[in-house]
Amino acid sequence: MSDTKVNLDNIWPQERDYISSPERLKYLRRVVKPKDTECVFCSANNSGPSVDSLVVYKSKSAMLVLNKYPYNSGHVLVLPQKHIGDVTELSDEEYSDLNELLRESVKAAKKIYKCEGLNIGMNHGKVAGAGIPNHLHWHIIPRWSGDTNFFPLIAETKLIPEDLEQTYTNYKKYFDQL
Ligand SMILES: [Zn+2]
Repeated sequence: MSDTKVNLDNIWPQERDYISSPERLKYLRRVVKPKDTECVFCSANNSGPSVDSLVVYKSKSAMLVLNKYPYNSGHVLVLPQKHIGDVTELSDEEYSDLNELLRESVKAAKKIYKCEGLNIGMNHGKVAGAGIPNHLHWHIIPRWSGDTNFFPLIAETKLIPEDLEQTYTNYKKYFDQL
């Protein structure tokens, strides 16, 4: 479940975002060092849902985003919109909303991909292998019997997932119907 093999600077295009909330600006100034690139998830969140931002759906306080470099077809991320790296710092409402979206995304993955199982997991904190430790995110990865084992899959891509536009269309269609 490690993201560490991936050069995170290259995951998504780094865009300068318009920051409308002074409160948020203050927060970003505090956590982002001058040379750091902006958090890709916050950047995606600020861009809104689109195939370019890879944001499929936003609930009240959480969002569903495609993984730019999927380990398997249908690999998505479910995360809070708030830039937060510790699940215990979410309010009850945010936590419940996040889990609601996690469950709905699993339903979507099962329906769309007819997968036989899923890897659902989170690397919580840098030492636990989180690639973007400051913005927590659940991975949802559809699995089928006969697909490559999960860990070799991370180390060297042995399987070519469907293209991202297709994944985007699949999930968007599901969430549009909710
Ligand atoms: Zn963030």
